[in-house]
Amino acid sequence: MSSTATEVLVVGGGQAGIAMSEHLGAYGVPHVVLERERLAERWRTARWDSLVANGPAWHDRFPNLEFRCDPDAFPTKDEVAAYLAEYAERIGAPIRSGVEVTSVTKNIGEPGFRATTSEGTVDARYVVAATGPFQKPVIPPVVPGSARVHQIHSHDYHHPGQLPDGGVLVVGSGSSGVQIADELRRAGREVHLAVSPHDRPPRRYRGRDFVWWLGVLNKWEAATPPQGAQHVTIAVSGARGGHTVDFRDLAAEGITLVGSAESWEDGKIRFAPDLEHNIAQGDHNHLSLLREADAYVERNGLDLPAEPEAHRLRPAPECVTNPLRELDLAAANVTSIVWATGYTQDFGWLKVDAFDEQGRPRHRRGISSEPGVFFLGLPWQSRRGSSFIWGVWHDAKFLADHIMIRRSYRAYGSVEEPAVL
Ligand SMILES: Cc1cc2nc3c(=O)[nH]c(=O)nc-3n(C[C@H](O)[C@H](O)[C@H](O)COP(=O)(O)OP(=O)(O)OC[C@H]3O[C@@H](n4cnc5c(N)ncnc54)[C@H](O)[C@@H]3O)c2cc1C
Repeated sequence: MSSTATEVLVVGGGQAGIAMSEHLGAYGVPHVVLERERLAERWRTARWDSLVANGPAWHDRFPNLEFRCDPDAFPTKDEVAAYLAEYAERIGAPIRSGVEVTSVTKNIGEPGFRATTSEGTVDARYVVAATGPFQKPVIPPVVPGSARVHQIHSHDYHHPGQLPDGGVLVVGSGSSGVQIADELRRAGREVHLAVSPHDRPPRRYRGRDFVWWLGVLNKWEAATPPQGAQHVTIAVSGARGGHTVDFRDLAAEGITLVGSAESWEDGKIRFAPDLEHNIAQGDHNHLSLLREADAYVERNGLDLPAEPEAHRLRPAPECVTNPLRELDLAAANVTSIVWATGYTQDFGWLKVDAFDEQGRPRHRRGISSEPGVFFLGLPWQSRRGSSFIWGVWHDAKFLADHIMIRRSYRAYGSVEEPAVL
């Protein structure tokens, strides 16, 4: 067991921790990054085997290093992990892997914090919690654990062969749900997909990827929605070279679309009457982005080939117009449920006054209500792009700048960090 001191303790060695280290290092701020497993662990083991990045290599990266692959390709999860490892090495990030932070408490009678870790204590003036936007898988309490069906979260899904023989119900239609449903269907499984509210931008439109359109239309900068606003996931896919997610295509492949999974009784799962609405809202989102893109092209006199056919959606399939409201899993030979229903956060180790009554981080752009404690990599931390590889780099820069401002006052004798919230 050791006892060390540093100025900034960064907890978590994913892309957020690496980005934070780059900016602190550039400013010459002493710091250490503690990672309980391996650097970029979530890209190594907490994703399914065939996962590729949702954004092309030119976009989903840090500004100072390109991927080695074609810029328009979608790097595999292993390529992303290798990229992050190479990056950390290049910047000389002081990362200690295999060290778990079990608690952080505020010092009494002196500034700063003490972290207890699996390898001793670390004293630090500032703490950055970079433990990820997606920490704890969430399975809504719809189907009891005792039900005779194999249930896993998308976090634990790796490949079709790991599921028992038989059909699969995939719940959730964000990028994970649609990609997993598609993979299972292509592997020959009978698949039902419970479709939740979603946005579904075109993969490419008028020759440009949707990440470019969201950028030029300033949508990655979209402000954080108010607490309690309905969460709408984004259904995109870089699989098989990248393609637009259209639920009509999934239905044409043989996937049965159903509404949100709602309740359970006697071996039967019931679906909400929201399928048609959710599909229509996704279509609406899709078409309005096309229109905004067209207006941008016109305003700026760009020479990008028109795509009038992209505006013409095919009729909704039978499973949408006449939806199944109930499924007897045994009768339909559905043996597994994959819950692609998102994540929550767990900051149980961070024992400071930086959370609201629901345990959510209380912060402004990552500066928490506990002076000296910062969050990095939260979904929508400062903008829509915050949890993405490129977005977290800019949020980390903002926090490093803030730390430098505080440092300049300390140099002139301030001892207490001011409350920001
Ligand atoms: C399926 C999926 C696909 C995604 N695809 C993309 C994509 O294509 N492009 C993109 O830009 N983004 C993508 N994202 C979003 C985002 O880039 C990833 O979630 C990314 O892993 C977030 O990085 P992070 O560093 O913030 O957190 P994480 O990668 O979660 O890293 C946090 C680290 O903290 C460590 N840790 C946690 N608690 C402690 C502790 N107490 N002590 C020490 N260490 C601790 C963990 O082991 C982990 O390694 C995807 C997310 C998911 C779930």
